[in-house]
Amino acid sequence: IQMIQLPFVQQAEKHRNRKAITDENGSYTYHYLLQASASLAAHLLNGRADLAGARVAFMISPSIYFVASQWAIWRAGGVAVPIHLSYPLPAVEFLLEDTGAEILVVDRSHKKQLEGLEDRLNIQVFTIEELLNDLKECNLPIISPKRNALIIYTSGTSSRPKGVLSTHEIIQAQIEAQVQAWEWQKTDHILNILPLHHVHGLINALACPLWVGACCTFQEEFEERRVFSTLEAGRVNVFMAVPTIYYKLINTYKELHKYQQKHISSVLAKFRLMVSGSAALPVQVLKEWQTISGHRLLERYGMTEIGMALSNPYKQQSRVPGHVGQPLPGVELRLWDEEQGKALSEENEAGEIQVKGPTVFKEYWNRPEYTANSFTEDGWFQTGDIAILEEGSYRIMGRKSIDIIKSGGYKISALELEEIMREHPLVKDCAVVGLDNIEWGEIVAAAIIPNTQDAETLEPLLNEWLRQKLPAYKLVRRFLLLQELPRNTMGKVNKPSLKKMFEDPNN
Ligand code: ATP
Ligand code: MG
Repeated sequence: IQMIQLPFVQQAEKHRNRKAITDENGSYTYHYLLQASASLAAHLLNGRADLAGARVAFMISPSIYFVASQWAIWRAGGVAVPIHLSYPLPAVEFLLEDTGAEILVVDRSHKKQLEGLEDRLNIQVFTIEELLNDLKECNLPIISPKRNALIIYTSGTSSRPKGVLSTHEIIQAQIEAQVQAWEWQKTDHILNILPLHHVHGLINALACPLWVGACCTFQEEFEERRVFSTLEAGRVNVFMAVPTIYYKLINTYKELHKYQQKHISSVLAKFRLMVSGSAALPVQVLKEWQTISGHRLLERYGMTEIGMALSNPYKQQSRVPGHVGQPLPGVELRLWDEEQGKALSEENEAGEIQVKGPTVFKEYWNRPEYTANSFTEDGWFQTGDIAILEEGSYRIMGRKSIDIIKSGGYKISALELEEIMREHPLVKDCAVVGLDNIEWGEIVAAAIIPNTQDAETLEPLLNEWLRQKLPAYKLVRRFLLLQELPRNTMGKVNKPSLKKMFEDPNN
């Protein structure tokens, strides 16, 4: 099938006069976005009929400029490659070379850090502000939904980031699944404080609202008090964040004056939807946020390669703390038992999440072998995440490669131990890893952010407490007290570097 207009353009045309984006400079309608992106597309095409799948990278702060550029790249027939804003020059160069990008669009604020790039790589660099000042017109190409659309790099939590390639059709399926499950509507207004080079910020918190004619407000720098003042203003009714952000907001809330707390709570109580994802949401964070906002967070599970796959129910009372719910509409999902070589049919057994369906990505960019190895022969994508089904709702146990610790023949879930340890009043936060051990294969090691100055007493107290809760094989064999956990930009604990910290003789 050929389409005269890409589906997202058709959607936007239905909502021409509605407000689409609010950023630090102003508010913009869908009409403006359509016009600006058409003119920008003409600049990118620069006389060509179709960019025909050429990669166009863009490095732009969350703003109308970002969205207009992304739409322009798609409308000109290119593949959009969003680049992390705080990447140093060598990392940007790696990405540009890895994707073979022909064009890079930047905003003024990021131009400086890229000096010299244009000469070294054979790439054309445009400054978005300059292009937008110069209106241009041309016929835009007709684009098939099967055309490559987007390369997003994974967070690099387990190894080097991989470029995940999706088509327009795949992105549409991912959007439609969420729009249906979370009942997105045009009267919605989201505050988007997430980085836009990952699925969470780009698809969930941006493409979904734009699909239905809703409004998205950007805030460039994440700062707790500013988030609260925007939320307090009362225009926003949807919010999405990673667990560490909720954790930070809770701590800031506690520092506010009583009257401000009261006001914030009364505004938050009217929100339609608040979502947490990208990493496991500690039950304690869910509970504290519920006390503050009257809202039980919707936790969901997803990944760059598959979009969102599991989600708690839309109805708040049916959400299960510590669980990630059921498959989204259109997502086929099974738990695979590697040892038995079959899909699990009973509840309460752990297996690898495998996913099939229209939301699954096309391939890892330029890595055909890696792509082939990540699918089963009958076409299921192997997520590498272990889960268990309990009373009809899935619970994530962690990554097969780092969170499932193999000790003395047992398999121990790091996420489960972390959840238990956080219940101890002296533990503010923690992260569990397995360390190589000749005798046991691996031993359990825990990095703790203590809630006390008296760190000396913490270890024996915690040990004693854990002994009452856990079988001996799950007990922590090594502790490390830290001020902060090493995290990446998505707030995920960087476990490989945490392991190195345990190996460091100075610790
Ligand atoms: P890389 O693949 O480069 O190591 P990454 O897997 O962290 O990085 P993403 O695709 O951004 O990159 O993250 C997906 C992963 O995040 C999932 O595979 C899963 O391990 C984790 N995740 C997402 N949501 C949840 C959740 N609700 N609970 C637990 N883990 C989650
Ligand atoms: Mg991954």
